[in-house]
Amino acid sequence: MRGTGRRDTQPELRLRSALHRRGLRFLVDAVAEGANKRRRVDVLLRGARIAVFVDGCFWHACPEHGHLPMTNQQWWRRKLEGVVRRDRDTDLELAAAGWLVIRVWEHQDLDRAAGEIARLVRQRRGARRPRSARPH
Ligand SMILES: [Zn+2]
Repeated sequence: MRGTGRRDTQPELRLRSALHRRGLRFLVDAVAEGANKRRRVDVLLRGARIAVFVDGCFWHACPEHGHLPMTNQQWWRRKLEGVVRRDRDTDLELAAAGWLVIRVWEHQDLDRAAGEIARLVRQRRGARRPRSARPH
C-alpha cells in the first residue's frame, strides 16, 4: 500500500508499455533488494539495478501542477509534505543500496522517458558486463 492513490495509473501503464516496446524486462510494484520492503517500486529493472517511479502531479506535489485543495488546506499541506519527505527518504535508501532512482512525472512525455531509461539500462549493463563476459 503506497498511500498515494491508485495502483496501475494510466501514466504508469503508458510508461510500462513504452518500456515493453523497447524490449525491456521489469518487475511491477516490486520490492528492491536491499531496500525497505514497505516502499515498493513502480517499475524495477533488476539487471541494471534501476528503480523507476511514476509520480502523480497532485500526490507528489509537482512544481508545475501541484496544488492544495480548497478545503482542509492545513491537513493537505501536511499530508503532501509527508509524501514528498517519504519520497526523498526512499530515494536515499535505494541509492544507498546501489539502485539508480529515476522519477518520472505523470505530465512528462512518457515515451521519451522510456527512451532515456532504455539508454541508462544499456549503459549500466555495459558497465557491469566485462567480468562475466570473459569465458571460464
Ligand atoms: Zn506535473
